[in-house]
Parts: sequence; structure tokens; C-alpha cells
Amino acid sequence: MSSLFLKNLTAAAVRPSIAKKQALNRVILPSLASRFLTTAATQAACHDDEPSFLQSVEKYYDAAAQISEVKPHTLAHLRAVDSVLRVTFPIEKENGEYEVIEGYRAQHSRHRLPVKGGIRFSEEVDLQEVEALASLMTYKCAVVDVPFGGAKGGIKIDPKKYTPDQLERITRRYTMELCQKKFIGPGIDVPAPDVGTGPREMAWIMDTYSQFNVGEVNAAGCVTGKPLSLGGVRGRNEATGLGVYYGIREFISYPEVQQKTGVSGDMSKNTVVVQGFGNVGYFAAKFFEENGAKIVGIGERDCSIYDPNGLNVEELHKYYRANGTFKGYSSTAQILENSSQILETECDILIPAALERQIGLRNVNNVKAKIIGEGANGPVTPAAHDILEKSGKVVVPDLLLNAGGVTVSYFEWLKNLSHVRFGRMNKKWDERARAKVVALVEKNAGRPLTEAERKAIVHGAEEADLVYSGLEDTMIQACQETRQTAELKKVDFRSAAYINAIQKIAAVYEGSGMLFMH
Ligand code: GLU
Repeated sequence: MSSLFLKNLTAAAVRPSIAKKQALNRVILPSLASRFLTTAATQAACHDDEPSFLQSVEKYYDAAAQISEVKPHTLAHLRAVDSVLRVTFPIEKENGEYEVIEGYRAQHSRHRLPVKGGIRFSEEVDLQEVEALASLMTYKCAVVDVPFGGAKGGIKIDPKKYTPDQLERITRRYTMELCQKKFIGPGIDVPAPDVGTGPREMAWIMDTYSQFNVGEVNAAGCVTGKPLSLGGVRGRNEATGLGVYYGIREFISYPEVQQKTGVSGDMSKNTVVVQGFGNVGYFAAKFFEENGAKIVGIGERDCSIYDPNGLNVEELHKYYRANGTFKGYSSTAQILENSSQILETECDILIPAALERQIGLRNVNNVKAKIIGEGANGPVTPAAHDILEKSGKVVVPDLLLNAGGVTVSYFEWLKNLSHVRFGRMNKKWDERARAKVVALVEKNAGRPLTEAERKAIVHGAEEADLVYSGLEDTMIQACQETRQTAELKKVDFRSAAYINAIQKIAAVYEGSGMLFMH
């Protein structure tokens, strides 16, 4: 590990200074033209005068704040982003040219430490987006009772345009900046995967952090979403998608949701469309399918696929990974060249699990789904949200529905700080105790249990069992709290989730006297 680190330390730390001295005339600045193009692409679903993502989060916050009964000065403090970090650094390309990379980290609220939130690699990243996402993380953590403040980071690159070696140098250099500015640490700020990043990037972050903090016994807790071999937790990879499934399963069991939307409480009677086949979309589709729903459509960047007879998620995923497109997968399924058309197809449940601002004034009236479950952060604009709710649909909001990721990140962090795998201390003990109960039951019943019956009773909880049940319980609890507030305040689920978050955070602010320094 140390020689690997040295190689990268050289790449990350030494080259930039050489770059500054020798090659300023070869530095390529991020292209303005491509910035405008990508911004225009994400806004396709929205009217130009619809609010930005940050404005949308603030709008939702303000509406909920008004009815939250929290004191105005607390509300004002909570709304503002605490600190932001903007860094630029050059990296050397194989052809000898240098490119200046832009990165951000925003910490929205430090009412609880560490602050927590992913790091995304995307050309859309800018300060506003990162601030909006950091705010959402604060509210998200509060909704699911994860005792962290909110943060978010981003590097403005399209990861597909870089080699793994370049990505490693970019990630390590960005982490160095976070270390130097004290924007990372198990008790300070703990990043995680987000759009365009995964366990590989988290491993690089952890390694770089550890090398800068030799001897820190809790170093593994500086980042979550790590590979298992480096202190990750079982279940983190699928957590957001699984949480989306648990959340929707809970909401469709509520009679008021069934009445308003006409969706059945029986999952096997529902059709589902998922936009985005990345980590969140793939696992959400997989869990819906495994639990009886029919997946009729999946959307991706270049095109979407729709089949009213149902798609096989695992097969389609294999095909997509091998070919990078749905084209040519099947002769019966329909390919939608205009990828965002998938949002307008016939289905009961629509899961936008790609990027923000996908359903806006331009396309909201074409949405046919009865329930819209926000797997992504901010996929529905405020105006579109109101239209959906008024037309008899239900929106299950991001800060609740996609909180499974940060919930299991919290479990991973706990595992890192306790330095022991969940279940390690008690599994065998539980199994022995249960075996004794089985022996008694068998004696009384006068027959031995079948092997399957015995296994079901005796099996002691392993890490994955505990993570899954912890996640399920967290999601159900958060959905029920949201439902109760919606009922009490006569508001939709988004406002209810915001109100709950605001009240929980306000209680910490006001209880700790941390609002003002006298
Ligand atoms: N990036 C994920 C989110 O937006 C996960 C954050 C985390 O695990 O800290 O919720």
C-alpha cells in the first residue's frame, strides 16, 4: 500500500507544482462551451424560469418552515449553508498536457458531527448544486434519525472521459485538499459515493486520508461506501435502492395512498418504470422485481427501453454493462430514442433515479404514473410537484425515499468506530440458545423439526441480516412519522418530511444553545 501511495503522492502532490512552474501555457481550462451544453441538457424538462435546484430546496424548506412552529431565528440559521470549499488543481494527462480540475465540498449544518454526504463526479457539478445537495443531506439525515449534519462534494468532470489512473490521481489530490483544509475526518466530515463514484473511489479517499493521518485508529471511519475488504459494511452497495423499495412498499400499504392514486397495496399487481440504471436505479428495479412487481421500463442516458410484458432486470443489466446501451437487447421491447420519454410511459410507480430536475413544467402533464418515488435527489421541480399532487398522484420525496444510502453509511461508520463486524460477538451465542429452544419444542411436539424449520429458527444474525433489518426498520419508521405529520398538518408527504426534519434539528440547536455566541 505504501509504494502505491508514494506513486500517487508523487502524481498528486508533486506534479501540480511542476505544472505551475513549467507548463502554464499548456494548462487547459474547463471548456465553457461544454458547461453550457450540459446545463441545457439537464434543464430540458424544465421551463427556463423554473427555480434552480438550490432554489427548489429552499422553496420546499420555506414552505415547511412556515408551518413547523419553529422560532424564526432558528429557521434562518438552519437554512443557510455553514461552509464551502472550492479547490482547483491541475492534473497531467498522458499526452503531457495539464488540465485544471475544479472541486467543491459544502457543509450545510454542523448541528451534529460529523457532517455526511456523497461526492459526485459529474460535469454538472457547481457550487450551487453542491450547496443544494448538502442542505438536502442535513434534512435527509434528520428524517431517518441518522445523527449527522449534511454535506456534499463534487468534482466537475465526466468520469467516462478519464482513465482509471487519472481518476485515481484526481480523487487523491482532491482528498489531499480536504485533508489540508480539515474538511474530512471520522468526526468532522465523512464522504460517501454519489453520482459517478463508488467503492473504488472511496478506497482511494480512505488510503489518502490514512497516509496523512498516520496512527489515527479510526481512520477507516473517514469515508463510507468502501469495499468490504477495507472496512465497508455488507449491504451498503444496494442500500439506497433497497430503501427505495422498502419506502414505496410502505406507502402503497396506506389506505389513503391507495384511495388517492388507485395503486394496489399488493406489489405483484403493480408495474414499475425506473429512470437511471446506475447503483440506485438498478438495485431499486431488482428489489421491486424480486418482490413481485413487473418492471416495464428502464431509462438511461442514450435511450430507454419499454416492454409492457415486463423486463428481466438481471439479464438487462448484464446486457447493459456489456454493451453500454439497451439497443439490440430484445426484438419485442420498444427502444425510446428520446431517453426522457420513459418518464411519460404507462406504469403505476415511476422511480426517477438519475439526476435532478427531470420532471418539470415541460413534461409533467405527460406523466402517467400514479406514484412518483424520488430515488434521485431533486428529480421533480416544485411546480411539477404541485401539479402531480393536484392531479391525484403521490410524490414520495427524496429526503425520505433515498435515505437508505446514508442510513447504511451510518451503520458502516459505527462498524469502523467499534472495530468489529456486526454479529461477530453474539451470533454463535444466539444460535446455541435457540438450538436449546428447538430441542424443547421438538420434545413437546413429539417430532423433530425439518431442516428448513430448524435453520429458520436457529440461524443467528450475521452482518447482512442486521444491516438489512436495521435499514428496513429505519425506513418504515421514517415513512410512518412522515405520514403522521402529513395527516396532522394536512400537507403532502414532502412538506411533512421537511417539517419533521426541521423540528428535529431545531430541537438540537435550541437544546444545545448553539445558536448564538454571546
Ligand atoms: N450520496 C448518498 C446520498 O445522497 C449517500 C450519502 C452517504 O451515504 O453519506 O444520500
